[in-house]
Amino acid sequence: MFSAGKMLSTCRKFGLAARRCKFASLFLTLWLGGFAASSPPAFALFYGFNQQAQSYQHEGESLVQSGNYEQAVSAYTQAINLLPYDAVQGRADAYFGRAIANDVAGHFDQATQDYGWSRDYYLKAAQYASYGGNSADSGLNGGYDSQIGQELVNLVRWRATVNPRSSDYMDDAGPMKLWDLRKMPLKVFIDDSQESGWSSDLRDLIWRAINCWTNVSGSPVRFMTWNSASGADYILTRPTAGGQIAVGSGGYTSGVDEPTEPNMLKQSKSLLSCRGYDGNYYSQEDKNLLYNLALHECGHALGMGGHSPSGQDIMYWKAPIFKLSDRDGNTIRRMYQGR
Ligand SMILES: [Zn+2]
Repeated sequence: MFSAGKMLSTCRKFGLAARRCKFASLFLTLWLGGFAASSPPAFALFYGFNQQAQSYQHEGESLVQSGNYEQAVSAYTQAINLLPYDAVQGRADAYFGRAIANDVAGHFDQATQDYGWSRDYYLKAAQYASYGGNSADSGLNGGYDSQIGQELVNLVRWRATVNPRSSDYMDDAGPMKLWDLRKMPLKVFIDDSQESGWSSDLRDLIWRAINCWTNVSGSPVRFMTWNSASGADYILTRPTAGGQIAVGSGGYTSGVDEPTEPNMLKQSKSLLSCRGYDGNYYSQEDKNLLYNLALHECGHALGMGGHSPSGQDIMYWKAPIFKLSDRDGNTIRRMYQGR
């Protein structure tokens, strides 16, 4: 999480759109692999592609996005039931989706179980890929599978030590950094340039999102707008090149400490991946994703180094939600209590 005293957080939060892209590319890979081949395609052994399962998977994703979490759990269950046991990639993805849906629905124990299954299938998929199944027609995505499999190993271990039902997640989402309250209101620059910023409607949307943290009753956080990066305490921009945000993640927040006071923030910067500069090209869903991402990354910018284990909190690693929970509020208050 914090590394070298500089980085505030390497946020592993997935943009939901990024997830969808992954499925689109998987599908394309399979398609290019050739359903029309006269002999059975090689990937069938490992991947066991199933069109109907894929539909249920997509349905689960939309249901989570539209807030129908219990129905999403059912859709993912249908996908899982349709997939043969050797369909390791499909099962890994379906269990992963169901884990998130269960967490957001408040079924934390089932979510932990699902993450465990998902971990096992991702690691298996990575293993198959390393045996030579990583060619274009295998339907496997070895590098991604191995990376997320390892992340889930850590996630499942961590979940055994945390309590998603406690009144706040201060002890679970550490390590924390802080702002000196004498610096309030923090000067916030939301990039307005064509190349790395947003049009004014989207800047308003981002401003509304981050101000949820100032509107919590008892929150000491205050923001003021600042019209350039120079002199700003908190900067929000779009990524301008590949590699600035980890593959599959939606945002990245970094922080710089005060030179004389470790863990006291001097500046935070959030990168929010999104559709681009102009709000006219955004669907409602694109706007929702940007709002959600700004709300989440702002929590990191205020000093939260890790994530909440509860899918009902904005600081959950993949929270598809649009307001702060009581636990989010309790945590920001407790962080700054007595400061
Ligand atoms: Zn995060």
